[in-house]
Amino acid sequence: MNPFNVYPLYDIEPVKAQGSYLWDKKGDQYLDLYGGHAVISVGHSHPYYVEALTRQLSQIGFYSNSVQIPLQKELGEKLGALSGYPDYSLFLVNSGAEANENALKLASFYNGRKKVIAFKAAFHGRTSGAVAVTDNPSIVAPINDNSHVTFIPFNDVEALKANMSEEICAVIVEGIQGVGGIHVTSTEFLQAARQLCDQFGSVLILDSVQCGYGRTGKFFSHQFTGVEPDLITTAKGMGNGFPIGSVLISPKFHAKFGMLGTTFGGNHLACAAAVAVLDIMKNENLIENAEKQGAYLFEQLKGISGIKELRGRGLMIGIEFEQPVDKIRDTLLFEHKIFCGYAGKHTLRLLPSLAIGQAESDQFLEALDQVLAVNA
Ligand code: PMP
Repeated sequence: MNPFNVYPLYDIEPVKAQGSYLWDKKGDQYLDLYGGHAVISVGHSHPYYVEALTRQLSQIGFYSNSVQIPLQKELGEKLGALSGYPDYSLFLVNSGAEANENALKLASFYNGRKKVIAFKAAFHGRTSGAVAVTDNPSIVAPINDNSHVTFIPFNDVEALKANMSEEICAVIVEGIQGVGGIHVTSTEFLQAARQLCDQFGSVLILDSVQCGYGRTGKFFSHQFTGVEPDLITTAKGMGNGFPIGSVLISPKFHAKFGMLGTTFGGNHLACAAAVAVLDIMKNENLIENAEKQGAYLFEQLKGISGIKELRGRGLMIGIEFEQPVDKIRDTLLFEHKIFCGYAGKHTLRLLPSLAIGQAESDQFLEALDQVLAVNA
């Protein structure tokens, strides 16, 4: 049986990872500024994380949600405290798509409605409900009905006003569009969305799967705007590589949870991973570090010629070029041994671990400078 991978594969086989570095089987060292797509939040194979998972597995790795799992409570308390949402409830799942799927279901159970407003270039996942609000026709199968979804231009307050009504179940928006090219959702837009959702009884869902979990220098990127969403979804950095996601649920939903469920969500090992991530973030001030290193990178990038536009916040950085990005990305990877991502044809995407230091930032800046000098 041949496993298939939907993403293009590099002929690189990492066999070891530590902090912000990977080593392949030839022994070559790579700087990881992509974190396997925003997943590695506290660094690869952090000793505290390894110890917590090993210890948990030697005690109890899994039993179903039919029993008491005190680790869920510990996770809820720590996540509530660090994120600033102690009054929200926590529903634990296994991925970003599953988190969005459940957020949409909750919204629909809550107000009994079906129509959803989503945004051009949005990405929310590949399962039926999540792909229906994702603006990428190539991954929507005929069975994935999205006739209930209206895609409006991103950050367009007038378009949102024109499309809101008492039929709208939910507005789902990323705090910063990731796959769509690193576009920050504006404060003005989110405030308008909040006001219109209140006015029409619709639910505001903030997809924080990629931009959340401290990456921007606040726990959630929408916390720069003062807007409080009804539902917040997380995944990726939550488990630092162990699959776990969640829906943070505003107290106004409290009476309406009975219809959610999952076999694996909130299992012992996943919770131990997520608790270890939060402990490390707190003990090592990683959210502050994300802000500091992000500011440093943005400042230094401004001084590099050949960049068309810089977008993002903290350690979620989009660097747009006039020319297609593939050659720049591949040269960084194969000649300079630096993993970066891309978002669209012209934008390089950085999603490093929040523990990145200035030496790693400088290594990247120097390499990019050289690559652009040759490829300008
Ligand atoms: N939402 C956003 C904003 C994402 O970037 C992604 C993954 N790229 C998802 C949801 C889906 O997450 P997963 O792949 O864990 O299902």
